[in-house]
Amino acid sequence: MAAEPGFVDSPARRGAGRLCLPTVAVAGIAAWLSWLGWEALAQYGPVHSIWAGQFELAGPAVTGFVLVVFLIEQVWPAQRRPLLARGHLLDMVYMLAHALLVVPLIVLLGAGFSGGLARAAPWLVLPRFSAVPGWCFVVAAVLAIDALDWLVHLGNHRITSLWRLHAVHHSQEELSILTTFRAHPLVQVSFLVTAVPILAIGHNAVTPAAVLTAYACLGALPHANVRWTYGKAGLVLISPAYHRVHHSATGRLDINLGTVFTFWDVLSRRAVFPAGKAVIPTGLSGRPVPVEQSGDRPRFARTFLTQWAEPFTH
Ligand SMILES: [Zn+2]
Ligand SMILES: [Zn+2]
Repeated sequence: MAAEPGFVDSPARRGAGRLCLPTVAVAGIAAWLSWLGWEALAQYGPVHSIWAGQFELAGPAVTGFVLVVFLIEQVWPAQRRPLLARGHLLDMVYMLAHALLVVPLIVLLGAGFSGGLARAAPWLVLPRFSAVPGWCFVVAAVLAIDALDWLVHLGNHRITSLWRLHAVHHSQEELSILTTFRAHPLVQVSFLVTAVPILAIGHNAVTPAAVLTAYACLGALPHANVRWTYGKAGLVLISPAYHRVHHSATGRLDINLGTVFTFWDVLSRRAVFPAGKAVIPTGLSGRPVPVEQSGDRPRFARTFLTQWAEPFTH
């Protein structure tokens, strides 16, 4: 298996400032879809349920859950560190940016993408099957979302321009539940395809907000700085110990790519279940992405802005 499509860290590269066209193209797609989403939401039409769904995936309930887990981490940490460790502080900035900027972006992108898709490919929406109970469609949609999340995550690791955007998530050396929010906003474009299952079952069932919220919480929990393996349930559900292997500072990163269920990793032989009690160091070796842990004193604003700007240049 090919190594991670990393990129060389050098002062020349950081200072070069030559535009990276794939990143600009992704930003252009995001702007276009956001504009479509803005128009669709203005009409408040059929995309409303998708809008609500996206909000539940990233809204206040998930944020509250994350704060409770952050407190639990302080009591039973896998890796003991100060409450205000540099990694926690920068990931709090990411959480704030997520609530203020990224959630609205997700809503606009989701509305624009789903509305456009419903018009361009109406055959994606399944016909009404009155003999099949609605909950069967909801279960199928959740499994399909998880499979698509897995596939997009694999793409984020295999396609260099997407890896440039995903790398900031992997750069965290002090992993915690807050790292869930440490992501470049343009990464959201690649995950838009996960709106398709909700759209597809639209004539048969509306995915309940509680299901989407539970899914988002189960998807966030694996970043927690705890030793939980979930025991036998950890063979099926992604645990913090399992996802930590994916964030390992050394070795393969294109393993343990799942979000909530391990099925897709197991089926593709990419599942590596945690063994032993040692806590794996996380981050990217060689620090190809500027991180808050470097230097005598942290420069949070500068590091944050550089992390967002960095994928735009070679
Ligand atoms: Zn990853
Ligand atoms: Zn992660």
